Amino acid sequence: MMFIQILNLFPELLNLYGDKGNAITLFKRLSWRNINATITNFHLGEKIEVLKKADIILLGGASDFEEKILFKHLLGIKSILQELIEDGVPVLAICGGYQLLGNAYITIDGQEVKGLGILDFYTFGEKGRLIGNLIIKNNLGLEPKTVVGFENHGGRTYHNYNTFGTVITGFGNNGKDKKEGLIYKNLIGTYMHGPILPKNPHIADYLIFSALKRKFGITKEEFKKLDDTIELRAHHKIVALYGRKFF
Ligand code: GLN
Repeated sequence: MMFIQILNLFPELLNLYGDKGNAITLFKRLSWRNINATITNFHLGEKIEVLKKADIILLGGASDFEEKILFKHLLGIKSILQELIEDGVPVLAICGGYQLLGNAYITIDGQEVKGLGILDFYTFGEKGRLIGNLIIKNNLGLEPKTVVGFENHGGRTYHNYNTFGTVITGFGNNGKDKKEGLIYKNLIGTYMHGPILPKNPHIADYLIFSALKRKFGITKEEFKKLDDTIELRAHHKIVALYGRKFF
């Protein structure tokens, strides 16, 4: 019997705009496929062994305040988190969680919020917040091509990794270069809240398939398709309402 452990990192601090809905979506989509799953919440002070068993890792968003609190706790799990990422464990890191994977976040008042430095990039606070609906064209070759979400961040991220997608509507990483998010191995970093996964079943399945392939060697043909009529109705409605500039 296949079993997948979804690990939610520090949900008491990393959970802006209902990011915990991502864990629920993954859990549901696994159970609809008759795959056993658990959602494990990894709290402050938790034993590191728990993390080692993760098959999918989630980091939600956080305000600057929580990011500062979290950094020293995250340092304790840096090496194991890095090992898991390098080993191809799928990771979804949202906004503040995404920023924390980089070297540092320099806030608008010049304070340095250190990041884990697992990925080599920086985030800078600049004047004005980037807020609103965010629609991108994904770079993972997934259908539908669009990904929809909501963003609210002061930090601007600049990096040279592959991006999660190209901005159609909204700001993305920095509001300047039309780049949104980051892809590294099976890790997705993104500014999309919402939560992102319920309205983007193709992204949820990308994470699930990556986890099943890594752990059980399953193939695309063996990966059961689900009926996503309702999820995609919500998705396309948002694209129709807010993605007009592009279409
Ligand atoms: N603290 C970060 C910023 O404002 C992230 C906010 C978030 O996670 N929405 O840039």
